[in-house]
Amino acid sequence: MAGRPVIEIDDLVVEYGRGRKVTRAVDGISLRVNEGECVGFIGANGAGKSTTIKTLMGFIFPTRGTVRVFGSEAGTVESRRRIGYLPEVALYYPFMKARELLELYGGLQGLSRSELRRKIPMLLEEVGLAGKGETLLRNFSKGMQQRLGIAQAIIADPEALIFDELSSGLDPVGKFDLRQVLLKLKSAGRTIFFSSHELTEVESLCDRVVMIHKGRIVTEATVRDLMKPLNEFGVIFEMPNGREMPPAVAAHQPECDGGRWRVTIRDPADYAAAVAALTAAGASIVSTASRTRSLEDYFISLVRSGDGTGGRGDAS
Ligand code: ADP
Repeated sequence: MAGRPVIEIDDLVVEYGRGRKVTRAVDGISLRVNEGECVGFIGANGAGKSTTIKTLMGFIFPTRGTVRVFGSEAGTVESRRRIGYLPEVALYYPFMKARELLELYGGLQGLSRSELRRKIPMLLEEVGLAGKGETLLRNFSKGMQQRLGIAQAIIADPEALIFDELSSGLDPVGKFDLRQVLLKLKSAGRTIFFSSHELTEVESLCDRVVMIHKGRIVTEATVRDLMKPLNEFGVIFEMPNGREMPPAVAAHQPECDGGRWRVTIRDPADYAAAVAALTAAGASIVSTASRTRSLEDYFISLVRSGDGTGGRGDAS
């Protein structure tokens, strides 16, 4: 999608502490999120997600590099006004009611009393808190607080949404509900950037995924491209005596195992070509199997192989 850039991060470095106790939490990341895109920012705990998001909101400053939101420097009034933000840990006042909290946040964002009266019940319903407007927040579970946080983030109908640890504290039902809310926002053209340590979140929601490890981006791809290398097709076959291995199969380094051959192929088109070539060569196909590795497996293997981390020491 080639809309206007909403988030522009260039060579961002963020360090905490000083002197010998410096922790480099973000180590030179660059990324763009364009208008209307939904991008997932994925990494394990301590990878640098929250730090990056805090620089987007202007809560902390880059040690090096630039962070721009809607073309303005991060943290400026113009850029913040256009963003709905859900922090990683949303702490609310225990003696306030859900409605009062939304009135407070909505009021701060310039909504009138009558707009608030109209909007709040709809919003509570949208995030799965219908009828809870008069409940004190001290009686809210973590999942309910997270839902309220989302309502708070979208109350002024912002153009972009930035969520830190999207579904923290939500049970499977809560996650499902949240996905519906986000899909609705996405279809309304909102730009969404969220961090999560759960890859399952991104498959159904995101156009693109940025994976971060030890402050560096290890991979960035559309969900479709990311899923491509996760398919594997295996074929076990026997070749007739004296026949040469067809090139479409030989290219994938088949291995001989007690008179039978086995080959593993990633690309579905290559797989189809190999099976056609084997059939044409008179091979007998003993079995075929397909396997899909999970994104989680993929991320772990990527991180373990040290791709893109440059062998840096542990930042956490
Ligand atoms: P994530 O959100 O991916 O879990 P963070 O951005 O919170 O990661 O943390 C990245 C690194 O920075 C971690 O090593 C963490 O311990 C460190 N860190 C985060 N906040 C601070 C802080 N206020 N002071 C010192 N170190 C911090």
